[in-house]
Amino acid sequence: MSMMTTGMAATVRRLRGQVSALHAELVRYGLVVWTAGNLSARVPDQDLMVIKPSGVSYDDLTAESMIVCDLSGTVVDGDFAPSSDTAAHAYVYRHMPEVGGVVHTHSSYACAWAARNEPVPCVLTAMADEFGAEIPVGPFALIGDDSIGRGIVDTLTGHRSPAVLMRNHGVFTIGPDAQAAVKAAVMCEDVARSSHLSRQLGEPVPIAAGDVDRLYARYHKVYGQQ
Ligand SMILES: [Zn+2]
Repeated sequence: MSMMTTGMAATVRRLRGQVSALHAELVRYGLVVWTAGNLSARVPDQDLMVIKPSGVSYDDLTAESMIVCDLSGTVVDGDFAPSSDTAAHAYVYRHMPEVGGVVHTHSSYACAWAARNEPVPCVLTAMADEFGAEIPVGPFALIGDDSIGRGIVDTLTGHRSPAVLMRNHGVFTIGPDAQAAVKAAVMCEDVARSSHLSRQLGEPVPIAAGDVDRLYARYHKVYGQQ
């Protein structure tokens, strides 16, 4: 870290705090159990990211225990091994320059769709707002090389959805920053749950493509504080 400028060191310190705090949101929304799940933030204008340490209980995560890695997944600063999904996060940052945050969970209802290799259909206005499309399924991929990262990037490039269900595995979400990626993970589980419940009662009715477009445009251009 001696190579870091003062400003960069302050940015890394802030991101360590933010990434640590956002992990508590994964717990709060019931998206993770034990030590599964992880999130990261890109360090702006640097080939670096801040990510969760591997195998540390959510209750024990602190800003200081977060790991700083370069975008090949090599640890630059930190006292623990980085998340076992570090290679996937790094691959996304290398290939999607607009992405500033990545989240991974095994949240239950999203996994129920991933296990069936079935995209979550766009059948609720909240889903059209947030995802602007179905939530797609990415390929089956084993951990250990770039397969997961490549599957995420190949599926989400050119897709409105910030979430992908990796087949037989779980959810990866992206965002312009880590908080946006966490929001996408929370909303993904919410719409996966509602749609799953609807499916138990019958066949959910799709929203017409033109209406999906109108809802998505309104939510992303008009809704909220401008
Ligand atoms: Zn996983």
